[in-house]
Amino acid sequence: MSKALGQVLQQEVDKRRTFAIISHPDAGKTTLTEKLLLFGGAIRLAGSVKARKASKHATSDWMEIEKQRGISVTSSVMQFDYNGHRVNILDTPGHQDFSEDTYRTLTAADAAVMLIDVAKGVEVQTIKLFQVCAKRGIPIFTFINKLDREGRNPFDLMEELEQVLGIRSVPMNWPIGSGRELSGIYDRMNNQVELFQGNDHSQIQVKKVENYHDPAIRELAGEFLHDQLCQDLELLDVAGDPFDMEKVSRGELTPIFFGSAVNNFGVQTFLESFLRLAPKPEPRHSLAGLVEPTHEKFSGYVFKIQANMNPAHRDRIAFLRIVSGKFERGMSVKHVRVGKEIKLSQPQQFLAQDRDIVTEAYPGDIIGLFDPGIFRIGDSLSQGSEIVFDELPTFSPEIFAKVTVKNALKHKQYQKGIDQLTEEGTIQVFTTVGFEDMLLGVVGQLQFEVFEYRMKGEYGVDVQLQRMPYQFARWIVGDKVDPSKFRINSTLVTDKKGNYVALFENEYAMRTAMEKNPDAEFLETAP
Ligand code: GDP
Repeated sequence: MSKALGQVLQQEVDKRRTFAIISHPDAGKTTLTEKLLLFGGAIRLAGSVKARKASKHATSDWMEIEKQRGISVTSSVMQFDYNGHRVNILDTPGHQDFSEDTYRTLTAADAAVMLIDVAKGVEVQTIKLFQVCAKRGIPIFTFINKLDREGRNPFDLMEELEQVLGIRSVPMNWPIGSGRELSGIYDRMNNQVELFQGNDHSQIQVKKVENYHDPAIRELAGEFLHDQLCQDLELLDVAGDPFDMEKVSRGELTPIFFGSAVNNFGVQTFLESFLRLAPKPEPRHSLAGLVEPTHEKFSGYVFKIQANMNPAHRDRIAFLRIVSGKFERGMSVKHVRVGKEIKLSQPQQFLAQDRDIVTEAYPGDIIGLFDPGIFRIGDSLSQGSEIVFDELPTFSPEIFAKVTVKNALKHKQYQKGIDQLTEEGTIQVFTTVGFEDMLLGVVGQLQFEVFEYRMKGEYGVDVQLQRMPYQFARWIVGDKVDPSKFRINSTLVTDKKGNYVALFENEYAMRTAMEKNPDAEFLETAP
């Protein structure tokens, strides 16, 4: 490799951080994202991410569903610079638009920030997203938000992380008082107190102290709160887990930060610690082994395809995570699956608001490629030798419907639409064993709406969806079982690759089936 390129690559990789924020709706993800972008100077006005969320019309009224529901159908990527770092935040849709895309987006992140409402603790969507991250073993940083409100005891929350998510935690800071009595936070790593001063963003006061016994804290917070703080921190020092970077990196220990996003309290110290501790772009697995980000040849994979961002052109954008090498606008790369060279001429990068044309990008960055229908989820692009990245996981759907086409003459378009939308990852298709009925499976209800809308709009086909009562899908594998004979408390279907999948109406039915078939494995992602 040329020395110059090698050095540039190393520098660019070292400064990058690519992560996703995982949370349950209303925990404050939009608010936190906006504060982070403000630190980076990526947006000038507070409220712009929020405004974008509330009324999407201005920036992307590309789809009726989106307009009607006032939400973003798919996630995007935001980039900003801070303290010499280049930060990529992958937005994970969380409200009604929770979908398989949300899970897939996590595969493009190298770390996750788990945002938790101090009053609500761990919630359903947090659990689901956490599990996807935990499976990959990526580091997870926890931000406990809304500290200005009455909330749960911090020790309770730590206990809940362990009980519900199975992860131990190490508080990086600790609240001094709580809710209306909140006086500040004690930063355990830097031995300093950050004082909480309500709504006044510009005047977050930081005071260096000797340790948490420092009488200066007593003066600032009063005797009662200081005693409480000392008691809590003594307990943590003795009984808590020490900070262990190796464990954090493996996703076995999560550093916890307390703060209040809306008041911009604790956010900057969080950002700085996060950038220091979070991993730089990680290598990715391929058929030929790990591909390091500093590998001189460009490579990347498609993790998401978003349709119709521009209604006038009906185009699609394929989101590519760069794994190695340098990307340059107009470069030719091999589209490995189809075995053709293609020119990447209209790449786009996503900032807080507008889509920008990108001229160069590096590992960890996400670029949007114009897609005239040539990409599928998981496709690899590479320069020089052919690199084939591991397939992206197919996640277990949770909502199912039987699909029929109203006009039988449209069967050909119908099939074309089904094929295309399956490749884009909008829906999963299953066929019932014995009856040959077609079932669709999705992670979020909105995917069905998008499916119906696009079948009509793009393929001219009216479809009818009949909801089915299943809630769980598990891929059945095992040397000693014959999945084709598997019939206990479930409906047996095959996926598009012919794998056997059992659909269950409730958890009880699923557990019973597992107990009665100890030789079978029940997988949550496709084998
Ligand atoms: P999202 O659904 O996770 O994106 O959550 P939002 O960022 O939209 O926040 C949900 C609500 O919580 C909004 O009304 C926010 O103003 C509010 N919120 C966010 N952060 C805080 C905080 O630190 N304290 C309080 N009291 N409210 C907050």
